[in-house]
Amino acid sequence: MAYDDNNIFAKILRGEAPCFKVYEDDMTLAFMDVMPQVDMHTLVIPKSPAEHLFDLPPEYAGAMAKTVQKVALAVKKASGMPGIMVAQLNGSEAGQTVFHIHAHIIPREGGIDLKFHARDLADFKMLEAQAEKIKQHL
Ligand code: 5GP
Repeated sequence: MAYDDNNIFAKILRGEAPCFKVYEDDMTLAFMDVMPQVDMHTLVIPKSPAEHLFDLPPEYAGAMAKTVQKVALAVKKASGMPGIMVAQLNGSEAGQTVFHIHAHIIPREGGIDLKFHARDLADFKMLEAQAEKIKQHL
């Protein structure tokens, strides 16, 4: 399937849709998931028009991994959670719903269940506050 330039993350990258930004550099962007599965659920995307891992140029894969490491550490500190899950879904059969490659950064703690994937829109003020808190730990 060809990359669809109208997917929501492509629009965010072009500044045509808003996001609660956490971090940005030349090759990547990190922002809050608007339908989070837990508090501080953060996404990292490369600035390359790729659907999944298999069509992402290796230099962007490297940049993405570097940003995931940096932002995941900040999320860990900001959330105070002992565990951080990093997930990246390739293809609808794997559960992917937005077809611009992204990594999920999801704080975890024993006994706290994840909410449903991509279902309930979070309060925007709360997302803004969480993004600010994560930025303080970058
Ligand atoms: P996937 O299912 O493709 O792995 O993950 C897509 C993620 O994007 C989901 O967790 C969903 O909540 C999130 N998402 C969907 N639409 C938007 C949006 O417009 N803005 C943001 N920030 N996240 C979105």
